[in-house]
Amino acid sequence: MPLIQMRDIFKTYHLGEVDVPVLKGVSLQIEPGELVALMGVSGSGKSTLMNILGCLDHPSSGEYWLDGQEVSGLSSDQRANLRNRKLGFVFQNFNLLPRTSALDNVAMPLTYSAQHLSERQARQRAADMLKRVGLDDRMHHEPSQLSGGQQQRVAIARALINSPPLLFADEPTGNLDSRTSQEVLEMFTQLNRQDGLTIILVTHDPHVAQHAQRIIRIHDGVIVAPGSAPASSLSFSGRSQIAASETPGSNQGQTDHAASGGQP
Ligand code: ADP
Ligand code: MG
Repeated sequence: MPLIQMRDIFKTYHLGEVDVPVLKGVSLQIEPGELVALMGVSGSGKSTLMNILGCLDHPSSGEYWLDGQEVSGLSSDQRANLRNRKLGFVFQNFNLLPRTSALDNVAMPLTYSAQHLSERQARQRAADMLKRVGLDDRMHHEPSQLSGGQQQRVAIARALINSPPLLFADEPTGNLDSRTSQEVLEMFTQLNRQDGLTIILVTHDPHVAQHAQRIIRIHDGVIVAPGSAPASSLSFSGRSQIAASETPGSNQGQTDHAASGGQP
């Protein structure tokens, strides 16, 4: 079963009297375990499509099946619940809480969690996750005391704390130098290969996209090249093994708008 199946998705924004059609009949399919780049020039509709794929927004029409469930008609609350259980997000600006330690940033989604971990358990889980991204010696640093690459690794740890099977990254290396970008992209590759995490990398940068197994190209709201799934990705379970718990995750305290990170 595909993890993602979209059929004929349209999205039109309404600005007063004016209709702004942005997505014009997008159909695509993504299998569990894929590492896909969604590529297109600025204004082509990448973020609009990612917001719908990530259940931050709903389409104007069309079908969207996510992990076997038709989600295009869900309410805002139902989408939030689904995001908390199944989706992780990483943004260009990291979106970490200032004056808050790396450990507390990563543990934050757990404080809203349906899992009801004790504070000690939550901090242990967060510490394990920071170790996983190579930051065990930076747990008590605040974002301003960390490099950009380290901040993005904290954001990745936070995105994965509830073991979502699917991770979205919107221009995740946009604020990083080339060496640090490389490190972050290698981390995505490793999470995909070792843990079977399905990753959708939104980027305008061909150097970033070349880390993906497949490139989906969007132009003016239409998919112009769907790429094709490599046979090897189909064997993955698509379920991240990073944290042990299978329990549904948390409310990350994000509204639809806030969770989109204010990205254009
Ligand atoms: P990309 O991420 O590829 O740069 P976007 O999806 O952000 O593209 O934007 C695609 C088009 O949709 C742009 O022309 C943009 O102006 C328009 N757009 C995006 N969001 C809105 C909105 N909330 N209201 C009206 N128009 C929007
Ligand atoms: Mg964008």
